[in-house]
Amino acid sequence: MRTWLIAAAAALAACTTTASAPHIDTAAVVAFSHPSLSADSLVAHVNVLASDEFEGRAPGTHGEQLTLAYIERAYTALGLQPGATEGDGSRSFLQEVPLTGALVDNAPSFTVAGADGSHAYTFGNQFVGWTKRVEENTSIANAPLVFVGYGIVAPEHHWNDYAGIDMHGKIAVILINDPDFETGDDRGFGGRAMTYYGRWTYKYEEAARQGAAGAIIIHETAPAAYPWSVVQSSNTTQQFDVVHDDNGMSRVQVEGWVTNDVGREILHRAGQDYDALKHRAQTPGFTPVVLGSLQGSVTLHTQIQHTRSYNVVGVLPGRAEPTEAVIYTAHWDHLGRCNPVNGDGICNGALDNATGVSGLIELARHYVEHGAGRRSVAFVAVTGEEKGLLGSRYYSDHPTFTPGNIVADINMDGLSIYGPARDLTIIGIGKSEMDDLATAAAQAQGRRIRPDPFPERGSFFRSDQFNFARIGVPVLYTGSGIDLVNGGEARGTALVNDYVAHRYHSPQDQITPDWDMTGATQDLTVLYNVGRGLVDGSSWPAWRPNAEFRAVRQATHPSP
Ligand SMILES: [Zn+2]
Repeated sequence: MRTWLIAAAAALAACTTTASAPHIDTAAVVAFSHPSLSADSLVAHVNVLASDEFEGRAPGTHGEQLTLAYIERAYTALGLQPGATEGDGSRSFLQEVPLTGALVDNAPSFTVAGADGSHAYTFGNQFVGWTKRVEENTSIANAPLVFVGYGIVAPEHHWNDYAGIDMHGKIAVILINDPDFETGDDRGFGGRAMTYYGRWTYKYEEAARQGAAGAIIIHETAPAAYPWSVVQSSNTTQQFDVVHDDNGMSRVQVEGWVTNDVGREILHRAGQDYDALKHRAQTPGFTPVVLGSLQGSVTLHTQIQHTRSYNVVGVLPGRAEPTEAVIYTAHWDHLGRCNPVNGDGICNGALDNATGVSGLIELARHYVEHGAGRRSVAFVAVTGEEKGLLGSRYYSDHPTFTPGNIVADINMDGLSIYGPARDLTIIGIGKSEMDDLATAAAQAQGRRIRPDPFPERGSFFRSDQFNFARIGVPVLYTGSGIDLVNGGEARGTALVNDYVAHRYHSPQDQITPDWDMTGATQDLTVLYNVGRGLVDGSSWPAWRPNAEFRAVRQATHPSP
């Protein structure tokens, strides 16, 4: 109750020319002793969230409890309204997200038998595998292997990699990314930019639709956009999923990856050549290739855990249209404890995504300081992003505002730590009018907008805005500028590549003295101005005509 009063007071102060500043309990959070959105405030939040004490913020751990308490304390200190509803109907900052934990604990190998004998590819180094079915024992025995190219069925592009084959009882062997990633031209799949068809999640979903028993992706660093070590570290620990009505029984029995060497060896054992098959897979009219007499077997034992995690939802209610909302998101979770490097076994997730959570809290503070708007603005810290965008999936399936009334989602996943830049990146540019708003706000800072410099990484599908787009909400997801004031594009590109190669999803993603978050302040100011314009206005940004999410929006928010 008290918090509602303070929020109301803050809103009132805003519309009646801020005689008295909104009450913010600055003592509650160290970072609040610095100006809102400032580099010092952001660093102060990151120092807490990415400390070893927070243990890498994995769901279901002590690190989770500390993180939730920190964000709740900040939202309370700002006087935000609790945006979620508990089972008993009472308001809470915490939206419970039921999850199923699954840990494969028998180090299964992937055995491939053929005329040349049987070979077991070992768990971790050569193969990773799991099941999304909620069951303890899963087994595939002697299933024929079928090479299905990129494993894509796209009627709009007259493309069907499963044409003419019945996949029941068989294992699909699949390439990562999409057919025109390496061809230098656009064959309908966006050229070097990864489409959703190129994502690993899509590969397993399509194989399931085809009735396959198993689906194994052959890893390759460039088209995957990360090394095998990432596949290994992400898939040998406990995995989570949101609770599905069918307990995952519509999924294939076994999902997994093999290294590039193992993939090449399996194809070779079937008398095929990896590069030649890839070339065929990139060519329209590709048809599946049964891999001789090769048969695959995998036996999994999975420890099932029914658990829960939490999204944190804080709201600054609108004065005139409180049921309409602009939503800011950032995932608070990271990997927790991970494979040690130089004796350090905590993946602190400083850039990924303690920076984004810091930005979320500081944006909330900046909004409170400047007063409530015509519409509501919500700040949603989501869980389970590292485990497959789970918190945002749950939120988008259980939104606290009607989807058609959500004006836009503005997501933050990794803010700039390299100082100010002359540009700003829009991930997934070209899909909606949100681009225009961001472009105007950046130009007001004398900066230019650029498309994603690494389109092959498919970043648009790899963070939480994707789940809002999935329910039709126009989204904005920006990345740090590359053209750094200090060192230009050369330094910007080198720093990002160094991060991806050496610190992404590893214990080395830690805050260091050379961090400069003044660039993040620049970017957050753009995100604030874009959102503020929508919160104080009545416009509804729309998807571009060619955007794959436009049809959903038409259904939830018919344009006049
Ligand atoms: Zn992230």
